[in-house]
Amino acid sequence: MLYIGSHVGFKKDSQLLGSLQEALSYGANTFMFYTGAPQNTSRYPILDGLTLEAMTLMKEHGFDYSKVVVHAPYIINLANDKDPDKFMFSVRFLQEELERCELLGIRQLVLHPGSHVGLGIDTAISNIAKGLNMILGTHPVTVLLETMAGKGTEVGSTLEELKRIIDLVDDKEHIGVCLDTCHLNDAGYDMKEFDSFLEKFDQLIGIDKIGCVHVNDSKNVLGAHKDRHENIGFGTIGFDTLLSIIYHEKLEEVPKILETPYVDKDYPPYRYEIEMIRNKKFDSNLLDRIRNQS
Ligand code: FE
Ligand code: FE
Ligand code: ZN
Repeated sequence: MLYIGSHVGFKKDSQLLGSLQEALSYGANTFMFYTGAPQNTSRYPILDGLTLEAMTLMKEHGFDYSKVVVHAPYIINLANDKDPDKFMFSVRFLQEELERCELLGIRQLVLHPGSHVGLGIDTAISNIAKGLNMILGTHPVTVLLETMAGKGTEVGSTLEELKRIIDLVDDKEHIGVCLDTCHLNDAGYDMKEFDSFLEKFDQLIGIDKIGCVHVNDSKNVLGAHKDRHENIGFGTIGFDTLLSIIYHEKLEEVPKILETPYVDKDYPPYRYEIEMIRNKKFDSNLLDRIRNQS
């Protein structure tokens, strides 16, 4: 079965119920959300009543909640320990995210490994593992390290770097990986050769560690180290390649999450992109259709 969705909002007054309703409006059968604004760490208390209502609605729609994931805010940076207070702030905030995930019944949390900001890759990798080792296993939540584009001093743009982090993590049961097709392309991994990429991933890390796939096209060429997402089929990766990843038999159980840009910054594309993915046929007029029907 295909599990496909997008990132959706999580608002103070509607919380998980609102996120689910948004996902349902896109025809999705999974979704990803931030427990507050992606770019900051201010968070509201989780309201259990709304969580329960969402659970009931999910049952009615045959939604498999184990496929839903949370994304940690970008500003958590476990790689940098120049300022010990800032490092501990990141660790504590991540710990609180694990708590929120547990309250919400979420089992998988996507995390950007971090940026080394001049400390160098070796220090960064040991810092990330140190931070993770302080908190993993305290909650029944698996942290999925996202593959990064390699913008600036980002850590995790190669499988070898991710492997080195995972090797240093004590609690192997609660660590995994989230593939992001745009980031992989921008990092220099050719998604047209996805089978050989997956083989390499399996040798280094193990396919069973893949907990989520972010499906995005890219505005930039292979190896650009840029990280600018494009709508499905309208970028340099292309529709057929993305479709072969989405329907890859070895990733059938893994949720696929769209993080493609709103059209003209206003219109969410997800209902249309999901429909196009289910139809398995590229629609070159899709963006105009979104503009006109929204
Ligand atoms: Fe991400
Ligand atoms: Fe992503
Ligand atoms: Zn990105």
